[in-house]
Amino acid sequence: MSPLLVLLGMIVTPASALTGQVDAIPIGDSVNWFERVSRGPRPQLRPFAEFRAKRPEKRYSVTVPIGKPKPSVALPRIEGPVDSRLPLVVIDAGHGGHDPGAISPHSGKREKDITLALARAIRDDLLASGRVRVALTRSDDRFLVLEERYGIARRLKADLFISVHADAAENQQARGASIYTLSEVASDREAARLAARENKANVINGVDLGAHSGDVSAILLDLTQRETMNVASDFARLLQREASGDVQFRTTAHRFASFIVLKAPDTPSVLFETGFISNKEDGEFLASPAGQKKVARGVRDAVQIHFARQIAAR
Ligand SMILES: [Zn+2]
Repeated sequence: MSPLLVLLGMIVTPASALTGQVDAIPIGDSVNWFERVSRGPRPQLRPFAEFRAKRPEKRYSVTVPIGKPKPSVALPRIEGPVDSRLPLVVIDAGHGGHDPGAISPHSGKREKDITLALARAIRDDLLASGRVRVALTRSDDRFLVLEERYGIARRLKADLFISVHADAAENQQARGASIYTLSEVASDREAARLAARENKANVINGVDLGAHSGDVSAILLDLTQRETMNVASDFARLLQREASGDVQFRTTAHRFASFIVLKAPDTPSVLFETGFISNKEDGEFLASPAGQKKVARGVRDAVQIHFARQIAAR
């Protein structure tokens, strides 16, 4: 049969032949039928039940075991003088393990390697000052969920938590460092986007490995948290001031957003985006030992002034 005949055959087939027992509307007569029906009593509708598929007799569920963050992740070694009266600074090298972070389009260098090198440089400078104790959340190429990172700081009763990162942007001209502190409301759209990107470190193949607890946001309203956030903001300003001789900062250097890694309610925390590895100059600076030393020097000076102020205020 030619396609045309098939088409004609479909048109002339009475509707009743297609629909079985359903009240058929003879084609060509549908206008009259509609007028008749809309004037007359409503036609009886068949109950829907008989068109429905049978109810499933058994309900199935699939349980996927996911690696919940172990509360007992091994605590890192505290380095420096054995004197618990000295302030403890926890340095967190962003990303690690399967999570490379941003990747430089120029050198192929990965954020996770740069942040680890920076964290080590900062630790060395802080230890050389002899004024503080230091612990690194990771000292090798391993993955930690965000809650484990600040969890380490809390369990060690750290006085300051600094998460070290390097930014990336599509616009390769974008450069400069910035310092982020916690706020439920982001200071600007870019800060919100960055927080969303950094918070994604917890998600692997669509599974969030972080703790799904509401208590963190509840604690946010706590006075302790307010005080913690104020101290963190003070430190962020200080860090910008002390590091700006050696490190180029963005025009608006202190920004706010809801970073999971900054949510320790009792440890003042900042996220230091040390520059853009998507920018050639920034990338080379951050990957070089000389650049890393400069970043470390800025952090060391800010940390020393910060704790001197804290002691003076007591
Ligand atoms: Zn990062």
